[in-house]
Amino acid sequence: MKAVFIGPPGAGKGTYASYFSRKYCIPHISTGDIFRDEIAKGTELGEIIKKYIDKGELVPDDIVIEVVKKRLNQPDTRNGFILDGFPRTLNQAKALDEITQIDVAVYIYVPIEIAIERLSNRYICPKCHRIYNLKFNPPKNDLRCDYDGEKLIRRPDDEPEVVKNRYKVYYEQSHPVIDYYRRKNLLIEVDNSSSAEIVVVLLEKTLIERGILKLKPCNPNVSIR
Ligand code: AMP
Repeated sequence: MKAVFIGPPGAGKGTYASYFSRKYCIPHISTGDIFRDEIAKGTELGEIIKKYIDKGELVPDDIVIEVVKKRLNQPDTRNGFILDGFPRTLNQAKALDEITQIDVAVYIYVPIEIAIERLSNRYICPKCHRIYNLKFNPPKNDLRCDYDGEKLIRRPDDEPEVVKNRYKVYYEQSHPVIDYYRRKNLLIEVDNSSSAEIVVVLLEKTLIERGILKLKPCNPNVSIR
């Protein structure tokens, strides 16, 4: 399954992408995670992109497209992949069409108030990129990752002022991507206002019934959290 997961900040893209990636053993490719790793490692690319991310602006298309092109060339993508947070502009969507033909675009959305509430309680593991929420999905040991014990961190761009700008940028630049895939008949829309355990069952069923998800689970008992 070659999928893109798109939608506004805090809608739940990363949570669902991680679930399908672990259950079906296909890579979860989050451009945001790739960029945060580059910043943490202090690379040249990290230095260039940090100023955009800190302000909640989009990283320029040419940089993002190059990063994704390189990643999709890796052999682990041969059975499929989940792109999380890419494409975020029409240019990126068109560039992706040149690289490969995707099977589905999953548009995950929630009302903005729910997203802001989720983002204000979000912590991430900087090592394995797992996502926690202090209210709905807290770590077992205080602020340590359940899987690798790493100290959890807040994303600087989850602060309310930056979130506001990320939303503005989303509506101006990323929202047209939804229509792009709708016109191509590739869009599945997911209202993620209810619990993730319920939403994921419906999404998985839809993907299987429509013949998009044909892989056998490599880890059948994976949970959404
Ligand atoms: P995310 O983790 O997907 O919320 O991304 C965090 C930040 O990384 C975004 O606010 C952007 O600054 C940058 N970013 C991630 N993906 C893209 C993309 N496809 N195009 C441009 N900027 C991106």
